[in-house]
Amino acid sequence: MKHTKVKDLLKSTTTLQEVNAKGWVRTFRNNQFIALNDGSTLNNIQCVVDFENTPDEILKRITTGAAVSVTGELVESKGAGQTYEIQVKKIEILGDSDPDKFPMQPKKHSLEFLRENAHLRVRTNAFGAIMRVRSVLAFAVHSYFQKKGFVYVNTPVITGADAEGAGEMFQVTSLPMDKLPKNEEGAIDYKKDFFGKHTNLTVSGQLEAETYAMALGQVYTFGPTFRAENSNTSRHLAEFWMIEPEVAFNDLNDNMDLAEDFIQYVIKYTMDKCGDDLKFLEGRLLEEEKSKPQAERSELALLDKLNFVLENNFKRVSYTEAIDILRNSTPNKKKKFNYIINEWGADLQSEHERFLVEKHFKCPVILFDYPANIKAFYMRLNEDGKTVRAMDILFPGIGEIVGGSQREERYDVLVEKMKVLGIDEEELSWYLDTRRFGSAVHSGFGLGFERLVLFVTGMTNIRDVIPFPRTPGNAEF
Ligand code: ATP
Ligand code: MN
Repeated sequence: MKHTKVKDLLKSTTTLQEVNAKGWVRTFRNNQFIALNDGSTLNNIQCVVDFENTPDEILKRITTGAAVSVTGELVESKGAGQTYEIQVKKIEILGDSDPDKFPMQPKKHSLEFLRENAHLRVRTNAFGAIMRVRSVLAFAVHSYFQKKGFVYVNTPVITGADAEGAGEMFQVTSLPMDKLPKNEEGAIDYKKDFFGKHTNLTVSGQLEAETYAMALGQVYTFGPTFRAENSNTSRHLAEFWMIEPEVAFNDLNDNMDLAEDFIQYVIKYTMDKCGDDLKFLEGRLLEEEKSKPQAERSELALLDKLNFVLENNFKRVSYTEAIDILRNSTPNKKKKFNYIINEWGADLQSEHERFLVEKHFKCPVILFDYPANIKAFYMRLNEDGKTVRAMDILFPGIGEIVGGSQREERYDVLVEKMKVLGIDEEELSWYLDTRRFGSAVHSGFGLGFERLVLFVTGMTNIRDVIPFPRTPGNAEF
């Protein structure tokens, strides 16, 4: 007999003579009530065991974590909390679990403990919910772009470009570390390396995506990216997933409209599909916040926070306006910021971004027109000659969630900029071809998928929204 998913059993509209369910025991109470979970939903189905007619041998093996198959009648439940339950006629132990050794006991575990057990943490309610939400969000990303006629492009994970302009890179090599081949100058001879040159893991698919936008019009990437920065924060991973749309003929305003519409769509889509999981995560967050001082608690519950993003436009503020606000802010005057803002041109730290979003505007903010010298080489220079058409989207609790720009489409201006920064023209000649042949205004952005998952799930550490996080000093599993 084919088993039915717990999700479908709980949604049943009639009682059923005989059903089969397979899953893992969450708890077994009074030698009688199994809470069975199969991952199809947050909710367990209660399976009532006829303990008088079940051998002790079997009853003893129904322990937290064990895999079981139960067959019986689906009946309306008399107990509180569920509509249907299974009156078990036959139970089979598929895989035993030693109750004394199974780490995921039915009690509250710290997130740190769960991180050390990342292969088992998904068997908890919270991580089951997070990973289902993550999956639905990923689908929503594709749904949005596909509906709008964007082409999904898979840019390379291994890149020959040394300067993608986004961060420190991991080197990819098959050279023997203990006897590296040297050239005549005594330097490492990368001609002998696998690709015949020095290669890295990509930090962004943007440059390649731009070449595709110049033919297909609207494209997006959605894949893994790697950064070797030693930033041990709750918002940085060494391996993360990035979504990068790139659109021909879009200027910076179109780019902001796209980003805002996109974010609102994927959040709405996920709220429609993941009601139970998000409700659970909202409750989890409320619990967690109780242990924080009043001032640090968020004013809105999770679902209200998500609705707020759907119902309110993102506030668009120029970098110059933001600097004025920050300069005159109380934490700046009282020297509460770690980095005091004195002058125009200062790079914004996450404390500043969070002040703007959480204290000043109290809504998502799009900052635009940044000083050219704190942004990447490919951003469109404004007529003022000192700012570029960059935009960062800042979210409450997260800080920067999107970084994007209108790209410099003018060949001469771009080459000049590369010269100033010492970026090898020869090496990026293929990129410059987009400006040599049929160049056009175009724009795009990068959105860190895990930062989006953080926001939607209300989790606070990015290590808790990706199955197996990679961070400095940690590549377990
Ligand atoms: P940050 O200033 O937060 O370090 P960034 O400016 O270096 O980010 P971008 O190069 O603009 O990041 O990358 C685009 C987006 O990718 C960011 O807005 C963010 O959402 C995400 N992102 C960047 N670095 C990381 C990382 N190490 N881990 C997870 N997401 C990241
Ligand atoms: Mn950025």
